[in-house]
Amino acid sequence: MRVIVLGTGQDGGLPQFGARIAPDMQARHDPLAVRLGPSLCVLDADGRCLLVDASPDIKEQETRLLQLPAYAARELGNPFDAVLLTHAHMGHYVGLAHFGREAASTRELPVYATPSMCDFLCRNAPWDQLVGLKNIALREAVDGAVLHPWPGLKLRVFAVPHRGEYTDTLGVSINDRLLYVPDIDGWRQWPNARAEAERHRVCLLDATFFSPEELPGRNLKEISHPFVTDTLKFFDGLQWGRRMVLTHFNHSNPVCDPASPQAQAVLRAGFELAQEMQSFEL
Ligand SMILES: [Zn+2]
Ligand SMILES: [Zn+2]
Repeated sequence: MRVIVLGTGQDGGLPQFGARIAPDMQARHDPLAVRLGPSLCVLDADGRCLLVDASPDIKEQETRLLQLPAYAARELGNPFDAVLLTHAHMGHYVGLAHFGREAASTRELPVYATPSMCDFLCRNAPWDQLVGLKNIALREAVDGAVLHPWPGLKLRVFAVPHRGEYTDTLGVSINDRLLYVPDIDGWRQWPNARAEAERHRVCLLDATFFSPEELPGRNLKEISHPFVTDTLKFFDGLQWGRRMVLTHFNHSNPVCDPASPQAQAVLRAGFELAQEMQSFEL
């Protein structure tokens, strides 16, 4: 069983719609510079597949997944066996629109989400139609829940502090091996941050922005993400016993360019930068 990173971008990906800074312009003509919306999947040798977050780039992500024989050999039917949604920010759930009657028209696809996220989907169009037509079957996942989408796959979900406009936000531990926290306000606001990282062999962590210099004129109190510069200090020491992998990069984050001095500094510190379609054996 392995985890595959389907998108390493922040919610808007790279290039970001409407943006024209240099990385966006480069990614518009260089496929290797593209970073899709934040998403993972867990794929086993029999082709069973769990999707973690349904990004706006889900069609492109499916195309990439079909390059993998284990996924391509799946029988027709639901494109995934289950979905886990972390929260209701654009990059993490709007891909669900493709599960409805105008597109894949999935059948009773189990979708795990917090009670507030389930409530949000049930109360708001167009998502309520997915529930009404039984394209998806919501399964409430409370803070601390342990889920088994199929025997041999264990998900432990937990609440993390993050700008909760519509719903609360989950992080997830997959088979006690890989920790995924794509969005968090700050590591210090989550008392379990270091202890959870220590428990895992691979940690995939929010690295939306590199430093305050990236955001001239913005009120830092409105930035609901840790800076990479802080993340390296906060988790310092843990990178030697496990893989500390940064992901969820905003289009402005200089580490999106692996040749940048900032990316090189991250690597020198013993941390890694997530790559599109990178996989981790569990
Ligand atoms: Zn996000
Ligand atoms: Zn978010």
